[in-house]
Formats: sequence, C-alpha cells, structure tokens
Amino acid sequence: AAVLGLESSCDETAAAVLRADGTILAEAVLSQLREHSLYGGVVPEIAARAHLEHLPRLAAQVIAEAGLGFADLAGIAATSGPGLIGGLIVGASLGKGIALAHRLPFVAVNHLEAHALTATLPGLVPGGARFPYLLLLISGGHCQCVAVEAVGRYRRLGTTLDDAVGEAFDKAAKLLGLPWPGGPALERLAAAGDAARFALPRPLLGRPGCDFSFSGLKTAVANAVARLPGGAPTETDKADLAAGFQAAAAAVLADRAGHALAMLPGATALVVAGGVAANAAVRHALGAAAARHGLPLVAPPLRLCTDNAVMVAWAGLERLRLGLTDALGHAPRPRWPLEELPGAAI
Ligand code: ATP
Ligand code: MG
Ligand code: FE
Repeated sequence: AAVLGLESSCDETAAAVLRADGTILAEAVLSQLREHSLYGGVVPEIAARAHLEHLPRLAAQVIAEAGLGFADLAGIAATSGPGLIGGLIVGASLGKGIALAHRLPFVAVNHLEAHALTATLPGLVPGGARFPYLLLLISGGHCQCVAVEAVGRYRRLGTTLDDAVGEAFDKAAKLLGLPWPGGPALERLAAAGDAARFALPRPLLGRPGCDFSFSGLKTAVANAVARLPGGAPTETDKADLAAGFQAAAAAVLADRAGHALAMLPGATALVVAGGVAANAAVRHALGAAAARHGLPLVAPPLRLCTDNAVMVAWAGLERLRLGLTDALGHAPRPRWPLEELPGAAI
C-alpha cells in the first residue's frame, strides 16, 4: 500500500509517493524561486497559479515513476494548512478530486505536523527519532519550538514574537544588497567576514522560556549600514555585517533551543527542520546546544528540511494507520495551530 502526498502551502509545488514502510517510491519538487524573485518575496496569487499549473502534472509523474496507478493507492494526503489559502485550495482540491474519483481515503495534512514527523521517517535519519523529541522549526514563515510527543500530540513551547528567523535572514540580506531569498547568499558572504566587528544584539538571549525575537537584530543591521560612511557598505562591511548577523542569529537559536530542551525532560533529541537548517553556523550552534543536554542533533537531509511532499505523504501514512482520515468537505485552513489537531489516543 502506498500514499500520494501533495504540498502547495507556500512556494514549493511538490508530490511524492511513499510505501507504507516509509520507502520513497518517487518524489518531485518544483521551486517557484524564479517566479517570485522579481518581487523580492512570495506573491500569493502568483504562487496559487503556479501550483495550479504544475501540481496535477507532478502528481501524475510521481505515480507513473512509482509504477502505480491512482487506484492502487491506500490514500491521498494533501497539505491543508497552515499556509497561503490559494495554494492550499489547489492542493487540497486536487487531492480530494483524486480521492473521490478512485474512492480513496483523504487525509488533510497539517504542514507543521509534516515537518514535525519527518525525523521519524525510517532509514532516512541515522538512528531515527523516538518520541518525545524537541522540534525546532526554522523557516521563512515559521520559528518555533515544539514538543513532539506522539503522532497528533504536539505542544508549542515557544514561538517568535515578530519575524521568523528565515524572514530575518532575508531582510538582513536585502539590506546588504543581496537578491531574495537572501539566506544562502548571506551565509556565503559571512564566510569571509569578521563577526566581531559590529556589536549586534542577541534578542531574548538568556531570558526564561523559548520565545524568539528577530526584528531588533534586523533593525540593528539597518542602523549599522546607515552609520557607515555615505550609508553605503563596502564589500568588507557587507561581509562583516553578514558574519555578525549570522553569529547573533545562531547564538539566539541555540540559546532558545537549550531552554526548550530544559522544558522537555525526557526528550531524546533536538530535531531541526526548515530552510534555515541549511545554515552551517546554525547547525553547529544547535549541535553544541544539544550536546550540552547530552542529546544528538537530528537534521534530516536538506531536501526534507525544506518544503516537500515526502513529509506530507509520511504524515498521511501515520494518520491513516491511526484511522484519522478527513471528510472531502474538509476546508483548508490558512491558520492551523498544531494544538488543534485531532490527537492520537495514547
Ligand atoms: P514555510 O515557512 O511555510 O515552511 P518557506 O518557503 O519560508 O516556507 P523554507 O523553504 O523551508 O521555508 O525555507 C526558506 C527560508 O530558509 C528562507 O527564508 C531562506 O532565506 C532560508 N534559508 C535557506 N538557506 C539558508 C542558509 N544557508 N542560511 C540561512 N537561511 C537560509
Ligand atoms: Mg519555501
Ligand atoms: Fe514548511
């Protein structure tokens, strides 16, 4: 038995087919970077239209690559929130259409749950992750610490009070004149910089709890740029600011993750997900934070950290196993906190 997963909540159009044991039979991701880069960020209407143009074809493609027909599937899982409503409607409607046509169970997958459960995919993460573990979700749209206790059982321990960390990377990069999305470019620039030259703040560092705040750090970069001669950074200034920003962000993430681990006694691991997990300085700081608690840092391969459909199919499989399917009338939810999921009976 296999499940088709569909992802269309933001700017990645993705489809994947997973066997019940977690084996990936086929996967495909189309990033819309090119469509949105002109505007310096994701434009919801453009995203929805791109999903509509590409998702049906990607779904057919992965089914064919898996050597299956839709009728062979055990179910369809489509991201149904949280995210941009236009894209969610495209993916959920396609999923429901296939489910209806082939009389298959439908699972409305919560995107955050899909990120949260990726680390339990058998064989992908060395050793796998056992419940409970701490998930640090760090992407362009999310920045939160989540206690993952079982399928369907999550507690958000902390979240950002303003910007997500990926958003902060992107805004800082923009201030340095880098193209969107700026995170990867900022990391490359930081490699040549002196992180100690500019004294940048580390918001909430050492404070109780595990909430985040990044807008002050971004503003500090803007102020530092404005104070430079002529208000225009040289290449050296840019590299130093990038290094300073990255060091501050990594230190804050590690500090907050450390606090979160202290709030979850019994945690077996610190699991990281989201595009910012690609950052080597961030990974290094998080590894050290986990080690201070005697725990491993589990980082799934990058293609499974960023938005993808493998994680959606896997969350769908886990829900199907528990008999947690959804009616075809299920409406996509642009806002859908993890705590509001129908939980697993323990
Ligand atoms: P969502 O938040 O809904 O999952 P998203 O598209 O914002 O969607 P991802 O695709 O997981 O999230 O990640 C994109 C973010 O990760 C961007 O903000 C990008 O700048 C950041 N990012 C990617 N690579 C790096 C890197 N090497 N260093 C820092 N940030 C990075
Ligand atoms: Mg993305
Ligand atoms: Fe995501």
